[in-house]
Amino acid sequence: MNNQKIGTKCVQAGYRPGNGEPRQIPIIQSTTFKYDTSEDMGKLFDLEASGYFYTRLQNPTNDHVAAKIAALEGGSAAMLTSSGQAANFFALFNICECGSHIVASSSIYGGTFNLIAVTMAKMGIEVTFVSPDADEEELNAAFKENTRAMFGETIANPALTVLDIEKFAKVAHAHGVPLIVDNTFPTPVNCRPIEWGADIVTHSTTKYMDGHGAAVGGAIVDAGKFDWMAHADKFPGLTQPDESYHGIIYAEKFGKEGAFITKCTSQLMRDFGCIQSPQNAFILNLGLESLHVRMPKHVENGLAVAKFLEGHKKVVKVNYPGLESDKYYELAKKYLPNGGCGVVSFELEGGRAAAESFMKKLKIAAIETHVADARTCCLNPATSTHRQLTDEQLEAAGIPAGLIRISCGLEDSADLIADIAQALE
Ligand SMILES: *Cc1c(COP(=O)(O)O)cnc(C)c1O
Repeated sequence: MNNQKIGTKCVQAGYRPGNGEPRQIPIIQSTTFKYDTSEDMGKLFDLEASGYFYTRLQNPTNDHVAAKIAALEGGSAAMLTSSGQAANFFALFNICECGSHIVASSSIYGGTFNLIAVTMAKMGIEVTFVSPDADEEELNAAFKENTRAMFGETIANPALTVLDIEKFAKVAHAHGVPLIVDNTFPTPVNCRPIEWGADIVTHSTTKYMDGHGAAVGGAIVDAGKFDWMAHADKFPGLTQPDESYHGIIYAEKFGKEGAFITKCTSQLMRDFGCIQSPQNAFILNLGLESLHVRMPKHVENGLAVAKFLEGHKKVVKVNYPGLESDKYYELAKKYLPNGGCGVVSFELEGGRAAAESFMKKLKIAAIETHVADARTCCLNPATSTHRQLTDEQLEAAGIPAGLIRISCGLEDSADLIADIAQALE
């Protein structure tokens, strides 16, 4: 499977039916699993045997889909979570605890920013935000004795900055901590962060992976390369006995390839239960089967719309890493040679009022708090997700009041452009 191309993996990886078994991944709609003896079940509780006992922790449908995502990212193991938020929380909390510190790019999804800066702070986990454009020296300066992880997004939502993954990985590794990369926007079809040194990759599968706006979900993939034992003092949860599992040492028993996901499943899923429903995992898999066909179309539409907007007199600025004029064009050429995604942001002359009246006139693009599905949608942060901020605060946050984020779907680009053109008139 490992040598196969990405498209073949999108369609086939993760599930291989036996003779006479269902061709499609079965939805195992069962909370629990039956055993002949208590000894049999006991082995599962001791992590001596692999198998299923309760869907709060693991379910076979989810595991087939997770195995596909692991294959797509080139990782050693993966798990599905109930949402992208849960994926990022678990990925961080699996190696951080009260007293730990995280270095994170400041250019990340608002939900993740809140999670780290507000909610995890209440758990006693500190963060230092760094500019994604910071040089190595500035990045190094953000690290502390208690730093346990570095975090960034390949293409940030909604800022559309591109992460220099190699630079971030180099700095993280110099400090003996893993780099966690949220790869939601490009998906493994357009970028595989593990190939550039990332250790853990996360996803909101709600976006392009599902791709139809049908199911909220998340995923965590472990590259299986980070040597926890070499930094044993930093990661006691992986390198010292887990008393809640009869003294198992994850890094010893499951090795570099299996320790992170096994611990995350057996501790965090057990205790928090943020599992994806098997129904949603099935829907997610339908999306994955066409991911390699859909992503190039999203990119084609994104680029066509970005180019049209760039040439329009009422548009002040366009952000799209695929445009030669974009600040992140060089990084995009390196990390996203086939393009990034279908999300474009642009600023209209006339600020908030102009943005509002433009969006009202759109006939194809709908106003939604969503991105990355088959139907084109748009949002003006100043009047929706960021409406509590004043124009001055918006400017400081790099989100001008007239900024519009448009997520180009799978429609014909000529129709999208015609729709935008009439709304700009
Ligand atoms: C949407 C999103 C999330 C959160 O995912 P949910 O599935 O909505 O919980 C995290 N990261 C990025 C980059 C996102 O776009």
